[in-house]
Amino acid sequence: MVLALLVMALMVMLGIINTRIGLIDTARMAWIVLAVSSACLVGLVTLPRRLGGTIFFACIAAVLLVIPAYGLDHQRNMQHWAYIFPPLLVFLMRPGPSLVVMILYGIYMSWVTSLLLPMIDVVRFASGYGMTVCFMYTYALLQDRAATMLRYHSEHDALSNCLNRRTFNEAVDQLAAPSRRHERCEFLLIDIDHFKAINDQHGHRVGDRMITQVAAELGRMLDPDAPLFRYGGEEFAVMLVDAPEGAGNVLAERLRAAIERGDFQGVKVTISIGVALWRASGGKIESALQKADDALYAAKRAGRNRVVESGANRA
Ligand code: GH3
Ligand code: MG
Ligand code: MG
Repeated sequence: MVLALLVMALMVMLGIINTRIGLIDTARMAWIVLAVSSACLVGLVTLPRRLGGTIFFACIAAVLLVIPAYGLDHQRNMQHWAYIFPPLLVFLMRPGPSLVVMILYGIYMSWVTSLLLPMIDVVRFASGYGMTVCFMYTYALLQDRAATMLRYHSEHDALSNCLNRRTFNEAVDQLAAPSRRHERCEFLLIDIDHFKAINDQHGHRVGDRMITQVAAELGRMLDPDAPLFRYGGEEFAVMLVDAPEGAGNVLAERLRAAIERGDFQGVKVTISIGVALWRASGGKIESALQKADDALYAAKRAGRNRVVESGANRA
């Protein structure tokens, strides 16, 4: 939005200046870009943000493809417009494809320039444009890496490296979205037994390490489509979406047995698990989570290191 407004302001200035100094063709070009960016601004306001942004950048890219041809038609060199193309592509594409398109556009622009200007000017343009491409591609790579890191850290928990509670809440919201058409989901709520005692006996650093190791052990046993979430302090959650009936109980028992067998450097670690089913045909997700929580507490009361399935699951 800011960029669209800045482009519009710039085009108004360019249009006025070019009209004043008598460059009618260039002024006309500025008015065309102003009209296109004004239409895009309407798109940005009315359409979903991502789609509106893509349309805006795609329209400017299309204008930049037409400008050299327009200049050729009027026997006027328009190569200076080419320098906008590489930064524009960084907004529109991933680094790899954008590099290919930048190079192709550079070749196209050099060819148009060669039809209008002596060879020395083509070489000058290609050198300047090539340097711009090098800088923009490197920037795009850094930007891409930063975005990946940011996404990872916003979705994952720093201690256990599994998905965090925020991501769990999003997954729960998506589960109920009508467009997803999910029929059922089994929730597994997992809690480390007597964890306070582990902290008290071995210290918080060992407690932290236990959380990391338990998460790694649980994660190893899970499929990518049913990942592990850190639900709270020493609590984890798994969502089995549209899995066959009884799959939650079977998986929970496998996870419990694996932790009981696990090697935690001399520290005895066990987990208790509550399992509850949510069906799209009836009941809220919150009440299924409450049932899983109740089942977890029933497992604790029954002596810990066990799996309890919510009564309604079996009904
Ligand atoms: P239960 O078997 O009933 O679950 O007993 P518990 O001791 O595990 O349960 P309780 O909820 O009483 O204690 C959980 C403890 O986990 C309390 C809290 O200090 C500790 N804890 C929570 N998050 C962390 C963490 O990130 N690191 C460490 N070291 N301890 C944590
Ligand atoms: Mg707990
Ligand atoms: Mg506990």
